[in-house]
Amino acid sequence: MKREDSYRHQGLRRKLVESIKQKGITDEAVLKVIMEVPRHFFLDSSFLEYAYQDKPFSIGWGQTISQPYTVAFQTQLLEVKKGDKILEIGTGSGYQSSILYVMGAKVFSIERIRPLYLKTKALLSELNYQVRLFYGDGYKGLPAYAPFDKILVTAAAPHIPETLKKQLKPGGLLVIPVGEKNIQEMLRVKKISDNDFETQKFGDFSFVPLLEDKS
Ligand code: SAH
Repeated sequence: MKREDSYRHQGLRRKLVESIKQKGITDEAVLKVIMEVPRHFFLDSSFLEYAYQDKPFSIGWGQTISQPYTVAFQTQLLEVKKGDKILEIGTGSGYQSSILYVMGAKVFSIERIRPLYLKTKALLSELNYQVRLFYGDGYKGLPAYAPFDKILVTAAAPHIPETLKKQLKPGGLLVIPVGEKNIQEMLRVKKISDNDFETQKFGDFSFVPLLEDKS
C-alpha cells in the first residue's frame, strides 16, 4: 500500500511541532524529526484526524501510541547522537523507534504482544525504516546485542530492571518511567561505571504498564 503524506498532513504536523515547542521541548533535532516522520502512518487509516493532536491513541490490544509530547520529551532526554546504539522496550506502533532511526541511531526494539510485533514489523519494512524488531520480554533486554549507548523504556515499570542497567555501556543513559498504576516519574539513569549510577528525575507521566514476565 502506498502511504500518502500530503501538504495537509505536513501543515498539521507543523502545528503539532509548534504546540510541543510551547510545552517546553527545546531540542532542535527533536523538533525537526517530529516534523519529518508522518505520525499518521502509525495509526489505522480511519483515525487519521487524530494523528496530529498531542494525545496518546489506541493501537489495539489494549496498547497506545504515546502522546507526541511524551515521545519528544523522552527523545530529548536520550540526547541522541548519530550512530548511537539504542534499545527500546515497548515497540507498540513503531513511531518512537522510527523517530530514533530517522535521527541516525541504530535501533533495536522489543515488543511483548506478538500480533502487534508482526503488524509493526510489516509497517516498518514497508516504510523502509531499518529498525531491528524483536518479539520478547523487555525485562530481559537483548543480551546478545548488548551493550547499548542508550535504553528507552516506553511503558510504566514498577522498578528499574537490573538487567537493563547491566546492558548499558559506561556513560550510557537509561530513560524509564517508574511507578505504580496511574502515575509514574520519568527517570534518567546514567551509568558511570558497573557499580556507579546517577539518577535524575523529570516529573510525572502516565504510561501503559510494562507487562510482567509470564514465563
Ligand atoms: N513506543 C510505542 C508506545 C508503546 S506503548 C510507540 O511509539 O507506539 C507500550 C508498549 O510496550 C506496548 O506495545 C506493550 O505491548 C509493550 N510492552 C509491555 N510490556 C512489555 C514487555 N515486558 N516487554 C516488551 N514490550 C512490552
